[in-house]
Amino acid sequence: MTHTPSLRTRFAPSPSGHLHVGGARTALFNWAFARGRGGKFILRIEDTDQKRSSDAASVGFLKDLKWLGIDWNEGPEFEGCGGGDFGSYFQSERLDMYNKFLEQLVQQGKAYYAFDTTAELDVERKESKSRNEAYRYDRSRADAISPEQVQAWLKEGKSAVIRFKTPAGAIAIHDEILGDATLPAGEVDDFVIRKADGFPTYHFAVVVDDELMGVTTVLRAQEHFNNTAKHVVLQDALGFRRPTYGHLPLIFNPDGSKMSKRDKDKLLRKTAQDKKLTAPPANTVDATRFSAWLGDKNSQLDFAEATAMATALNIELPEINVDDFRRSGYLPQVMCNFLALNGWGPGNDLEKFDNAFLCANFALDRVQKTAAKFDRVKLLAFNLDAIQKLPREAFSGLVKAHGEIYHPEFMKKITAAQFDLLVAASHERSKTLDELFRGNRWLALGDEELTWEKSKQVEKALLAGTPSGLDRLKELRGVLEAVATWTPAGIEESIRQWATTAGLAEQIGQIAQPLRVGVTGSTVSPPIFDTLAILGKSSSLRRIDRCLQDFATAKT
Ligand code: GLU
Repeated sequence: MTHTPSLRTRFAPSPSGHLHVGGARTALFNWAFARGRGGKFILRIEDTDQKRSSDAASVGFLKDLKWLGIDWNEGPEFEGCGGGDFGSYFQSERLDMYNKFLEQLVQQGKAYYAFDTTAELDVERKESKSRNEAYRYDRSRADAISPEQVQAWLKEGKSAVIRFKTPAGAIAIHDEILGDATLPAGEVDDFVIRKADGFPTYHFAVVVDDELMGVTTVLRAQEHFNNTAKHVVLQDALGFRRPTYGHLPLIFNPDGSKMSKRDKDKLLRKTAQDKKLTAPPANTVDATRFSAWLGDKNSQLDFAEATAMATALNIELPEINVDDFRRSGYLPQVMCNFLALNGWGPGNDLEKFDNAFLCANFALDRVQKTAAKFDRVKLLAFNLDAIQKLPREAFSGLVKAHGEIYHPEFMKKITAAQFDLLVAASHERSKTLDELFRGNRWLALGDEELTWEKSKQVEKALLAGTPSGLDRLKELRGVLEAVATWTPAGIEESIRQWATTAGLAEQIGQIAQPLRVGVTGSTVSPPIFDTLAILGKSSSLRRIDRCLQDFATAKT
């Protein structure tokens, strides 16, 4: 691997929400590419689109990157990362620099003020559409305005944008992943480089920043390929160096649709429609908002609303953002490994690797050209495998940290001893760090709060057969009351002894189910002896009593 200290890559998110997995993969590749070559990785926040940006969203991005283990040499200062000589690393704080180059282009006649109104541009767009042509800005109206008139209008404060005078001719792009491509002449029109609000457009700011920050390599998603054509003509006009470009394949859902933040709303909307809901479920959103959202497939609920709606509709939302995966209990190293496989592979059927391996081996020649498919089943299998390989102590620490962030109420309700038992009982089969909390809500409930799931399985476990589960439960209550050592082994020994005497030694599984339902309210929990040990003796007995009472009344 060549050591290139002057190599500089960057990740340049527009902070319009949370870091999407696609963005995380772009960041990861830029980071690994720089790290593996002794170069620098820069983080730049592209917040010139004032409507979409927010400080909270920027901080969310920084946190998500840090969680993944992607640290930056230069950029916003955050938890020991960032700083650097080429700041500010927030575009909104670099307006003077953009203005300097904007003026230069206008003075050189390479860019011009345009005063078209939205209505005028709309008419032209419609005309192009009626001719079945792609719209291209027509420079002639701006050309007809004299320089004096331009100055006078600017003085009056008439609204104006600055457009780049795109040179005639085809535009050649060299891409390290896709190869060479040429955009035919006329494809790129005179695009806006400064908006009417005085902010540069994305295209202009990116080009200036990449130059001033010494960026040598730009790896970004294929959806930016046409933007690159605009960027190279701007670089030529400004006399800037041209970074090396590599456009990364998009990430699709297995069904071939683009993996989008709208997927959550899509699922919620479909569920609401399937259930023929005409009003919002209680405690979600108000009725007006609900009907507007239901009728507009582009509208999105915010995080809290979507979560409330998912809970009310009893569905799990697909994870899309890094933060969703974190909340669902994926390990950061698994996420990095898996994201890297979405578009790259080291070869030799090697699939599992860590970030050090990625940095040492990542190169553009093995980046695929076609879209990657995000295989959630495989991700879950990777996560299970990584969790199983963790030493118990490490798993326990991670679950604890996860619980304190995402399930503080649960953590408060259980004792340290219960937590340790639960960790021991769950480690081997936990596919995520969150599973332990999702699957054991019974534990955090008070004995008097527990309710029994209204399901066929629960009914079967308690009511079917002769003797029924309830009959067994009555007998087992007495056995449990007599257990002297309330540990998984102690409980197991007593129950096995009783089962043997009762000629049921081979039927421990059948005995377990009514017990499980009795103390947890459902048919799923850790192994039964662990479940009882974790819950504790008095709670177990109290819950069994309540279950016997409830179902005795239910039966009569
Ligand atoms: N701000 C752009 C985005 O979030 C970055 C594009 C680029 O890397 O140049 O898509």
